[in-house]
Amino acid sequence: ILAKQTPNYSLLKNDEDTIRLCFNENPFGVSPKAIEAMQKSMTDASKYDFKYADVLKSKLEEKNQLNKENFLVSAGSSFLLELIAKYVSIDKGHIVIPEPSFTIFAPITEFLGMSKTVVPLNSNKEIDLESMLKSIKSDTKLVYICNPNNPTGHLLSREKMENFIQKVPKNVTILIDEAYIEFTNQPSLSDLVNQYKNIIVTRTFSKLYGFAGARLGYAIAHPEFLKNLEKLQSWSGGEISIVTMAGGIAALEDTDFTNKVLKNNQLAKEFTIKELNKKGIKVISSETNFVYFSLENYKEDYFNRLKSAKILGGKTYEDEGKWTRISIGTLEQMQKYTKAVFG
Ligand code: PLP
Repeated sequence: ILAKQTPNYSLLKNDEDTIRLCFNENPFGVSPKAIEAMQKSMTDASKYDFKYADVLKSKLEEKNQLNKENFLVSAGSSFLLELIAKYVSIDKGHIVIPEPSFTIFAPITEFLGMSKTVVPLNSNKEIDLESMLKSIKSDTKLVYICNPNNPTGHLLSREKMENFIQKVPKNVTILIDEAYIEFTNQPSLSDLVNQYKNIIVTRTFSKLYGFAGARLGYAIAHPEFLKNLEKLQSWSGGEISIVTMAGGIAALEDTDFTNKVLKNNQLAKEFTIKELNKKGIKVISSETNFVYFSLENYKEDYFNRLKSAKILGGKTYEDEGKWTRISIGTLEQMQKYTKAVFG
C-alpha cells in the first residue's frame, strides 16, 4: 500500500526543463493575443480604469447569452469559492461536499463555525448525487459540485444535474464549479441561473486560456445572489489587475489558440489513456485536461521515476493513496511521461 504522497514541488523553483503535469495548467502557456493585449494595457496600469471590467463583462455576456448583472468577475475562481464560503457561513450551519474534489474552501467554513458532511464518490468514481441529497439537513447552507470533477475528470450529465438541482431545497446554495467545462462537449449550467436563484456557477480563465498565474475567474448567478455576495467586498473586482482583464478580453476571442489547446488535449489524453491501459492500469474516463488512475497494479516507485525524469505529477488520493492524477501536457510531454513511468 502506498502512503499518501505529495510530489516535490520545490523542483518548480528553478528548473526550466521540468515538465509540469501537476496543476492542470495549459501546456501552451497564455494565448498569444492575450499577451499582446496585456503588453499594450500596461501603460494604463497607473489608473483605476473601470472600462476594462465593463468590457470584460460585456464579452462574457455575449458569450454566455446572459446579462452583465449575472456576472461577478474576480482574480481567479478560488477567490470566488472563498467568497461564497464566507457568505454561506454568516449564520453558520452545514455544508455537503464530495470527496475527493476541489474543496479548498471547506477549511474556511469550518473556521467560521460550520459543520460538514463529506460524501465519498460512488463505485464508478462519480460524485454520488443521491448521497449528497440525503446528506442535506435542515441547517444545510451549501452543496458543492465540481463538474467535471477534479481529480477524477468525470462529468455528470446535464440531465442528472438538472434533476439534482430540482430536488435540492431552494434555501440551499448549490455551488457548481465548472473550472474544466470548456474541455467537455456539454454546455455550462449557467443558463439556469435566472430560473434557480440558489445556484452559482464558477468558471476560470486558468485552464483553457492559460491564465493560472495571471488570475482571472468569474461567477454566474441570479443578480440578487451576486448583490448579496458583493456586500462582502468593498470594491467588487478591485482585486483584479487591469493587465489581466485586458488579457482576458483578448483571450476570449483567440479561438485559434483555444482550438489548438482543445485538439492537443484530446490527442494527448487519448495517447496517455491508451498507454496506461496497455499496462493494465485502471483509468477513469476523463472529460478534462487531466487523468485519474490507480497505482494498485503499478509495481515500480512511481514518484521516484517521475523525479528522475524531472516530471512533476499530481499528489495521491483515496484508498491509502492508490489513486493519482496526471495533467495532460503536449503530446511530446506525454510521450516522455509514459516512457519515464512505463519504459
Ligand atoms: N476549481 C477547480 C475544480 C480547480 O481545479 C481549480 C484549480 O486547479 C480551481 C477551481 C481554481 O482555479 P483558479 O483559482 O485558478 O481560477
